[in-house]
Amino acid sequence: FICLSFSLSTCSAHSYCILYAANTIHTVGVSGEHTAAGGGGNASYKRINPVSEGSCTVVWAVDHYDVFLCPHTEKGDFLALDLGGTNFRVLLVKVSDNGRQKVEMENQIYAIPEHLMRGSGTQLFDHIAECLANFMEKLGIKDRKLPLGFTFSFPCRQTKLDESLLVSWTKGFKCSSVEGHDVVALLRKAIRKRGDFDIDIVAVINDTVGTMMTCGYDDHNCEVGLIVGTGTNACYMEEMRHLETVEGDEGRMCVNMEWGAFGDNGELEDLRTEFEREIDCGSLNPGKQLFEKMISGMYMGELVQLILVKMAKEGYVFQGRVMSALAHPRTLQDLLRVVSATPPTLLSSANLTSLLYVLRVCQVVSTCAAHLCAATLASVLRQIRDNKATDRLRTTVGVDGSVYKNHPQFAQRMHRMVHRLVPDCDVRFLYSEDGSGMGAAMVTAVAYRLDMQHAE
Ligand code: BGC
Ligand code: MG
Repeated sequence: FICLSFSLSTCSAHSYCILYAANTIHTVGVSGEHTAAGGGGNASYKRINPVSEGSCTVVWAVDHYDVFLCPHTEKGDFLALDLGGTNFRVLLVKVSDNGRQKVEMENQIYAIPEHLMRGSGTQLFDHIAECLANFMEKLGIKDRKLPLGFTFSFPCRQTKLDESLLVSWTKGFKCSSVEGHDVVALLRKAIRKRGDFDIDIVAVINDTVGTMMTCGYDDHNCEVGLIVGTGTNACYMEEMRHLETVEGDEGRMCVNMEWGAFGDNGELEDLRTEFEREIDCGSLNPGKQLFEKMISGMYMGELVQLILVKMAKEGYVFQGRVMSALAHPRTLQDLLRVVSATPPTLLSSANLTSLLYVLRVCQVVSTCAAHLCAATLASVLRQIRDNKATDRLRTTVGVDGSVYKNHPQFAQRMHRMVHRLVPDCDVRFLYSEDGSGMGAAMVTAVAYRLDMQHAE
């Protein structure tokens, strides 16, 4: 257990909070049309201080245009696609206004078979278009040309609100001929090829941004979006004056940090264990997303597995046998299923000891992930606090992701460590159910209305 307690203590060490995770800054939501006046400027979702104007609350500003998430203006039906998490979803968000605003949502999860995750890009986008067709057919809306928001949760170079070039696949996806290409154009092409329905793709966003937007609707203090699921990442509102790559000093802009890529320039070499190195070597993107490989759900199970295999080889568990079940399970759930499938009465005392070791390894790995996540988040909170030059920061973090949502202790452990690392910040964590997809629908609703207003 020496190696385990070592990694646990390093992970919770305060040294982590000096790490500033924004090693790759991508701006989000750059709106080409709306910023053309500024010479194809680089504006994004600028958050301005919430002010009330009549019955509307101004929550976001896109470039110089105020964006009202306005109960009496945003209405209609909006579609959203959410690709890049545990599930691929299609959503229909209906915003109605009969005196009182009502937001209703229908959604459907579709499988993305493994061969499509690593096949050709054309096959992947054909499949997405087919799922969309099926969804619209089912809801009887196939004859309508609805506005759609696309949550595409991979590192992208966003050039317009509806144009985003994939930088590199992560999280087990590896489709050919997509990297370097605009994913909105690829989706449009797949839909046009079918010819059985039409759609107006208005916006493409990252899941962190969608989560922050969704939470920001309920809580105007929300200025951070966090995902701990299959992958991990966060975005936050940064002062324009600190963003050298973007022109202008006024206001704030959402920065998608892509913190899963933290460590890709060697920053984590002193901390990565042999197990994390092994996972990286065997992955589809070696040398990339190194921080993500230390904490996210896609790799957690394998981390546990590799540690147990080593312990078995050294005779600590399973009477020194590397059980066949241990050689393959891909996820934490699989592994726990293997362990818990054995009826307790059949467990010898040796097996019982093994079981306790397995649980302990799981606990160490997931605690380590929660603490690492807390440490990077703490550094972001410090940055926000310093920006505001306040002694006590009150802020809200919108969170989504399968690990945060489903792991029984992850959230609590992460919250506790954040409070320990930044005791002078009052942080509220707001869980956002379906935030990543809903956010795309919200951005679409706002952008769509702005387009309409400009057309008039
Ligand atoms: C992607 C991010 C995404 C995160 C969480 C990472 O692999 O690069 O864009 O936000 O996963 O889904
Ligand atoms: Mg998601």
